[in-house]
Amino acid sequence: MNTDLSWRADALCAQTDPEAHYPEAGGTAAPAKRTCMACPVRRACLEHAITAGEEYGIWGGVGQQELRRLIRARRAEQAAA
Ligand code: SF4
Repeated sequence: MNTDLSWRADALCAQTDPEAHYPEAGGTAAPAKRTCMACPVRRACLEHAITAGEEYGIWGGVGQQELRRLIRARRAEQAAA
């Protein structure tokens, strides 16, 4: 697993509203996803979320359902390797 978390220093969500990345049930993820799309470390963030199995919140512009799918797919790939 990649343990380099230096990308966090440039995380745009840290300069906006980090709570927006954890919307309550029925809440909207749209503002968080918009922030992610403008974030300079989006790729590193998403890769971290997948490798670390971050199943909650919006990471790298990806919502929880899609993130869980990506995590499962990565684990299946690793199990097959
Ligand atoms: S991609 Fe989104 S969640 Fe990740 S660091 Fe950037 S703003 Fe935060």
